[in-house]
Amino acid sequence: MPELPEVETIRSYLGGLLPGKSIDAVVRIDPRMVKRSPADAEAIANLLSGREVIAVDRRGKFLFLRMDTGDALLLHLGMSGRLVAESREAPVPIHTHLILRFGDLEVRLTDPRRFGRVAWVPKGVQPDVQLGVEPLSRHFGTKTLQDAFHGRRVAVKTALLNQQLIAGLGNIYADEALFRANIHPERAAGSLTVEEMRRLARAVKHVLRQSLEHRGTSFSDYVDALGHPGENQAYLHVYGREGKPCRRCRQRIQRVVVGGRSSHFCPRCQAQQPSITVRSAD
Ligand SMILES: [Zn+2]
Repeated sequence: MPELPEVETIRSYLGGLLPGKSIDAVVRIDPRMVKRSPADAEAIANLLSGREVIAVDRRGKFLFLRMDTGDALLLHLGMSGRLVAESREAPVPIHTHLILRFGDLEVRLTDPRRFGRVAWVPKGVQPDVQLGVEPLSRHFGTKTLQDAFHGRRVAVKTALLNQQLIAGLGNIYADEALFRANIHPERAAGSLTVEEMRRLARAVKHVLRQSLEHRGTSFSDYVDALGHPGENQAYLHVYGREGKPCRRCRQRIQRVVVGGRSSHFCPRCQAQQPSITVRSAD
């Protein structure tokens, strides 16, 4: 699934390409992709035609194409979505559900599993997304984790994936950050020491920045807005490396399911420490 670095890589490219360009036509919009939207597919097509894009923004894993009217188009890539800018002459891939035409250029959303989302965000209306702090912003740090994790018995891995606490982290970067901070994914979030939370906050920023430098991680689906795979998969320590030796200590990487999600960790570098008693909230 595209996470913050992948979505930001796409945003960065489209943000340099689209502002100042006008949408000549909405060539295709699949009504099944339009979810929790105040305007349906047909209305969105009418509202977008002739509009000029003034900016491309990102919040968590969501993209916003901002229009000259103050309205915006929300795009989410779901599990397998691709958003690629191509010549209108290029063959249209199967499972393409949205095509915006800008002169000779088309921006195409392709999503075989259709878990992605397209929605209209009228001017002055907050988008229907509940998102916590941006982990690469100056607002994110040890204090964020102290507030978010306080008294929580949920596994730290699960807490990191909660978009309402931290926006944009998914399975890859949660696993990588926990490895870098030497924290077992099944530790109760509320049991982490302040020192561990300090390490984890720094690790989250590090793994996201490192991936941005490599234009994201590609396993199967993700490509950037030019259609090229990212290169961060070569730099991962635990994600997708079950059974392979830890790059730090040579112990074999293990996989466990935490909160319904696969979690990869090194049993030596991320030992399950004795749980610290959490003071109850009452
Ligand atoms: Zn190790």
